[in-house]
Amino acid sequence: MVAAGRIDLWRDWAKQPKETRRLVGRFLRVRPNEIGSHRRFRDMAQTLRSDPDSSYELPADVPDSEVRSVVARHGQHPLDLAARLMEEAEKKYLEGRRPLPGAGPGRWGFGWRRESVVELPVTVKDAVIDPIVLNTTPAVEDVTVTRDALEGLVKEISRNTGKPPWRLGVLAKLFDGLRSDEDVPVRKLLLKAGGIRLLNAPTGVGKSVLIGLLAIHLARAGVPVGIVAGRVDGATKTTEEINEDLEALGVALRCATLVSPRRLAEKAAQAADDGQWNRFDTFGYGCSLAASVVDGPQPVPKDEPCTILRSLVEPVDHKRRPALRHACPHLGVCDRHRGLRAGAAADIVVTNHHNLMHGTIPVPVLIDGTVLNRVSVQEFLLRKCAVLLIDEVDHMQSGMFDAGARQLMLAASGTAIDLPLVHLDAERIRLLPAEDRDVVPPLTRTRFLADQFLNYVLEGEMWLKDARPQANGKRRLADERGDSGWHLPGSRDALVLKHLFGIDDARAEPAPETVYEQFNALFPDSRGAQAPLLPEWLRGIADQLTLAVSNDSAQDQIREIRHRLHGLVAEQVEHEDDRREVVNVLLVRTWLGALHQALTRLTYAVAAPGAEMPAARVLAEQLGTVAQHQAIPYGPLGYLLFGFRVDRVDDPQPGGTLSVQALGGDPHTTIAQLGGTVALAAAGVERVVLGLSATVYFPGAAREHVRADITYSMTDADRGAFTTLAGEAQDEHSQTTIRIGGLSESGKTPAIRDLGARLWDQHLDAHLCYLAANDKDRELCMLVGNSYRHAALLAAGIVSRCADPGWVAVVVPRSGPPPLTVLPEKVVTLTIDELESLPRKHKNVKVCIAPLSLVARGLNILVPDDQRSALASVWVCVRPPTGITESAELFASVNAYALGSDEASVDPVGMWTMQRTRAFRRLFHILTSDPRFSRLSRELKAEAVAGMLVDMIQLAGRARRGGTSVELYLVDGAFHDPKHGTDIPGLLRYYIASLSPSQRRGLERVYGTTLTSWLDFAGIDKEI
Ligand code: SF4
Repeated sequence: MVAAGRIDLWRDWAKQPKETRRLVGRFLRVRPNEIGSHRRFRDMAQTLRSDPDSSYELPADVPDSEVRSVVARHGQHPLDLAARLMEEAEKKYLEGRRPLPGAGPGRWGFGWRRESVVELPVTVKDAVIDPIVLNTTPAVEDVTVTRDALEGLVKEISRNTGKPPWRLGVLAKLFDGLRSDEDVPVRKLLLKAGGIRLLNAPTGVGKSVLIGLLAIHLARAGVPVGIVAGRVDGATKTTEEINEDLEALGVALRCATLVSPRRLAEKAAQAADDGQWNRFDTFGYGCSLAASVVDGPQPVPKDEPCTILRSLVEPVDHKRRPALRHACPHLGVCDRHRGLRAGAAADIVVTNHHNLMHGTIPVPVLIDGTVLNRVSVQEFLLRKCAVLLIDEVDHMQSGMFDAGARQLMLAASGTAIDLPLVHLDAERIRLLPAEDRDVVPPLTRTRFLADQFLNYVLEGEMWLKDARPQANGKRRLADERGDSGWHLPGSRDALVLKHLFGIDDARAEPAPETVYEQFNALFPDSRGAQAPLLPEWLRGIADQLTLAVSNDSAQDQIREIRHRLHGLVAEQVEHEDDRREVVNVLLVRTWLGALHQALTRLTYAVAAPGAEMPAARVLAEQLGTVAQHQAIPYGPLGYLLFGFRVDRVDDPQPGGTLSVQALGGDPHTTIAQLGGTVALAAAGVERVVLGLSATVYFPGAAREHVRADITYSMTDADRGAFTTLAGEAQDEHSQTTIRIGGLSESGKTPAIRDLGARLWDQHLDAHLCYLAANDKDRELCMLVGNSYRHAALLAAGIVSRCADPGWVAVVVPRSGPPPLTVLPEKVVTLTIDELESLPRKHKNVKVCIAPLSLVARGLNILVPDDQRSALASVWVCVRPPTGITESAELFASVNAYALGSDEASVDPVGMWTMQRTRAFRRLFHILTSDPRFSRLSRELKAEAVAGMLVDMIQLAGRARRGGTSVELYLVDGAFHDPKHGTDIPGLLRYYIASLSPSQRRGLERVYGTTLTSWLDFAGIDKEI
């Protein structure tokens, strides 16, 4: 439990001495992720039996399978020994984190096969790369900030600038509405170190104002503060505003943005486009190495070779040792990295969600006297800042599930698809033999297992679900199959246990350990070094399974092997149909288990040369969480989960693809423990962390609901501020409601275009006329679909009916091909980055259309020179996707369900075990579910609708800036059709019924009139 980073489960953890807590933090910082896996930890503990130098041994009289504890033979106090061992482990860790040497005079290569060559002059001889200096800020136990202090700050700024103190009104409204967890009015904010404190308040009431003032107040008191905004743009804007205030106050404090160097070039180009030259000066840089390129292409902006220079001089001893990567000699002074130095020296540092969770610092950092390479942004910020303020914290948590649940296509047949493994194979040419020899075995094995498995499934030799597909039967697409298609190795173990070992229902009562040992010994991937001696018939099965995945004979033998397996199980499995299923399950489990193992090894093998092999980077990013150090590396499942799926295609010819998904990390616990376990591991001290959002509390919303108590909340009490309305459009011919959700993608194309046209005729035209007459400044509405294509189709429908195509603006991708729909020239097309400037730059536009996921958060489209939102209404034209069986959703659901509402316990290990059991139960439930929304179980539907409500509340929040009211229209007929139980009123009823009384009270307390608006719409009695 300690190795897994789940010490938070122990109720007495908070009472442990500081030294002990720090020691655990040091351990979590340096231990490889795999030790955090329950299964790997147990395997490693068992190897103690054969290690004579170990400080522990297994009790002599207990069989391996029953060992629950080890016996110390070191005679020292356990914590003293741990501290000594930690010193050794830290030495090793630091060795792996030593900075790269700087490149000296001579020729150096970079890029594909090092085809770009730079010639460095003699002046760079012995050039020293100055590290960024960062000292860990001592812990601050708690901070108290009064309302008076913040108001005083606003008045002082206003006095010095002569501008009106408009923020006083915002603060007054916010503090008047804020209530503590005991429901009493708040005069001061009291924030303690450890875990996370949460503040929930509706959109547009001044959370951003509060964050800025809090940061300035604390920085003035000598407390360094970190602010985490949703996006890079938000971060830079916050920095600019805070620096203006600091200047007005006349204090020598600085605020700096910490942006990933890869985003700088992009931001500089955008600033230049907008004519924002101050911003351009902040972000712009030139690569001085470019002047030294003597051959090959110049460095590509964003991908400069700062840390990937390789010597072109052959080693003198000709042993072909791998050439070490070297750093550019300008790394310490280059403008590309000046923002990182500014961040280290600033009093307030602002970054964005993604950079906090995934960013690294490419310049060496001198931390408390030790120079380290590639320090994570998380460590940087947690060391630097005693207080961390995170905006939209629920969104950050949700984004972590996307990063933790990735899919990768492993094999394809009959269809031309770019496969990362093929790329990786091609890129091996860049590796030196010493590097390549580690990559070849796992790569060739992975490719063999993946390609051949796909062939077998497509040929009907193996199958992933219950019954063998009909030979030559119609090939079915994943959507038609009636399940998610994801298959986990081991998800059908019950069948084998039943038929071969006589265990009837292993899920009801665990099978004896000896049975599991024999069972595991059957499969090559789970057969341990000390596998038990198997009876002859089982040994025969194990031999055949090993042969099946060996490829030693270089022949396809699957039919012979299956035939022999049939013979070997004949005595135990009488019925022929059962026998066929058992043999199939044995083969599938063997094959996917071996593939899982090969993929894991491949991920480790490519981690070293990854920086220079783009395909390796893709692989490592998709499946590579195993290779990093994380405080809490796995969720309650206890290991990185690999799921496999085969999708058949008939077009252009029969074939299919094999994909894998990897699920890892524990976003819920990581967020809840950001100031606790995570800060201890990163910085050695606990930190004060305050998370803010409008939807941080939403029980059932697996991705967004943050697992911590709300410290402060503000109820949305403005009656009529939020109204949910039906906005469906009728088909002119059939006189039925136009429905989009549930249609196939090809069926959606004409339907969405038609919806746009009818919506204009039946609602939008009149709605905009009303606004023109009554609220001229806000004569603008936003329409959302689920993709750029949906947005373009809606626009096409509307311009076919409205008088002036210039009234319509549609959001298009920043790069890549535009949507295929052709629009009249006068339609305004803009990227998401330009949307906020819409009312200023395109005064004529009355309807703007965008994909929901881009605009649901953090977007402020304001009336020019005003703090009020320019949007009067939001129209949801296509029901948001509810893919509970998609990887990120599945991952979130399993994690949320497993963690439940558990709190720290006196029996933490018991609770941890229970969470693991719950995780597997939920996983099994989802994987065996039909993914069609209408067929999901009630609890999965309730979960999906909770996530949808969060999106809708956030989306409507875009129109609530400056306290304006909003109308949210549900347009898609799928919102209203009760036939399949997918209508919003029906779903809301499910959801409300799934909550406990205290959760319902919590919702009522936090969402007030917003909730009432939804309940009114659904016709649910207010007395929930
Ligand atoms: S450190 Fe600066 S000069 Fe050197 S490669 Fe990177 S961008 Fe170019």
